[in-house]
Amino acid sequence: MERPNAWKNYQSVELEKVESLAKEYRAFLDHGKTERECVNQTVKKLEKAGFVSLEKAIADERKLHAGDRVYLNKMGKAVLAFIIGKQPLEKGMNIVGAHIDSPRLDLKQNPLYEDSDFALADTHYYGGIKKYQWVARELALHGVVARKDGSLVTLCIGEQEDDPVVGVTDLLIHLSQEQMAKKLSESITGENLDITLAGKPLAGEEKEPVKAALLRILKDEYGIEEEDLLSAEIEAVPAGKARDFGLDRSMIMGYGHDDRVCAFAELAAMLDISDVPEYTCCGMLVDKEEIGSVGATGMQSNYLENAVAEILNLMGDYSELKVRRALRSSRMLSCDVSAGYDPLYSSAFEKKNAAYLGRGVCYNKFTGRGGKSGSNDANAEFIGKLRKIMDDNQVCWQTAELGRVDLGGGGTIAYICALYGMEVIDSGVAVLNMHAPMEIISKADLYEAKKAYRAFMENA
Ligand code: MN
Ligand code: MN
Repeated sequence: MERPNAWKNYQSVELEKVESLAKEYRAFLDHGKTERECVNQTVKKLEKAGFVSLEKAIADERKLHAGDRVYLNKMGKAVLAFIIGKQPLEKGMNIVGAHIDSPRLDLKQNPLYEDSDFALADTHYYGGIKKYQWVARELALHGVVARKDGSLVTLCIGEQEDDPVVGVTDLLIHLSQEQMAKKLSESITGENLDITLAGKPLAGEEKEPVKAALLRILKDEYGIEEEDLLSAEIEAVPAGKARDFGLDRSMIMGYGHDDRVCAFAELAAMLDISDVPEYTCCGMLVDKEEIGSVGATGMQSNYLENAVAEILNLMGDYSELKVRRALRSSRMLSCDVSAGYDPLYSSAFEKKNAAYLGRGVCYNKFTGRGGKSGSNDANAEFIGKLRKIMDDNQVCWQTAELGRVDLGGGGTIAYICALYGMEVIDSGVAVLNMHAPMEIISKADLYEAKKAYRAFMENA
C-alpha cells in the first residue's frame, strides 16, 4: 500500500518539465503575495489565453457556446474561470478550487503611533499563525489605499533589492528569562505584533516628530494622508523571493504555498487545455479561506452560483432549475495543501496515512477535527472513479489525513461546495512548515498536482 516516490519515474525530458514548471511557479509566488496580486497575475494569464471577462460578455449580450472561455473577477480578490464544454451545463462541471489568501499581519485601520523615538504600526494578524515565527525577520508591505476621491494607491515596499524592509522586534535572549518560561502560545502576544516603520525625527517638529517624518514620506512618495489609512488594506508579508530548497534543488521554500501552489497548478492545468472539453471546466481561486471562507470574496458567498446562472443565460438556456442541476451534478477537487510528514515531528502523524513530500498529489477523503467534525467526507464511489482517472493518466498520487487522530484539525472550502450536493474531495500538495512565513513543497508534487488537475478536468 506504500505509494511510490514520483522522482523515481522521471526521465530527463520530464525532469526538465518539472524544473520549468517550478521556475514559473516561483515567479508566480514572487509576484503574488496577496490575494489581489494573485488575481492580477491570473487575469493577465487568462486574457492572454483567450478568456473573456464574464461581465463584459454580459454587457455585450454575447452568446456563449462550447469552447468559449470566460472569467469572473470578484472584487479583485477572487477569480472564477470557465471553459464551456460540449455537454449541457446542467450535466455538471468539473471544478477545481483553491484559495489565494495566506496568513499574514494586516495593518489596523488606525495603525500609526510613536513611542520612544520609533514610529510603529499596530497590526491584527490574519489566519492561523504561530506568533513567535513572525518576529525578528524582514517583512514587506503590500496592499492598497483607497482615497476619498475614489482613486486607489497600490503599495509594494520591501521586495526590490534596494527597498527598505520593516519588521516586528523581539526581546534579546539576555533579558528573556520570563518570556522563555511562558507557553509558546503566550510568549508573543497578538497586540505586540507591531511593526517598526521609522526611527528618524522631523526637524523642527515638537509633537511625535518620527511619526511626522513618516507621514511626510507617505505623502511625498505615495500621496497618502494618515486618514487615508482608514480605507486601506495593507498586509505585512515575509520579504524576498521564493528559493530552491535542498542541495539537490528538489524543493521550493517560499511564502504562501498554502494555497498558491494548488492555485497555480490549477491555473497552469487550465491554460494547457486546448481542445473543447466534454464537460465545462471551472477553475476557482478564492479568498478568505484562512478565516473561514467568509465575506463577499470567500467561498461562502454565492458568486459561483451567480456566475453559473449568467453563463446559462448567455447560452440561451437559463432556468433556476438548470442552475441547481449544474451545481448538483458537478464533480469537484477542493485543492488545498496537506500536512507533509516531518521526521522531526513523527509523533504528530500516523505513518500509513500521512502525506509525504515527493509522493505526488494528495487526496484527503476527509479533514476536520475530533470525530471528523466539520469535514466533507468524500464518497467512496467518487474516489473509485478518481483512482481510475489518476492511474489512466499516469499521475503519481497518494492518500492522507491531516495528522494523528485527536491532535488538531483543519478545514478547506470542500464542505461549502458540497452544500450544493456535488461530489467533492480534498486534493493538494504536501507542505512542510505550513502557515510559517516560509513553507516548503516538493517540485515533484507541484508537477503531479498540475497533471492531476488537468486529468480531472478533462476526464471526470
Ligand atoms: Mn489552505
Ligand atoms: Mn491554511
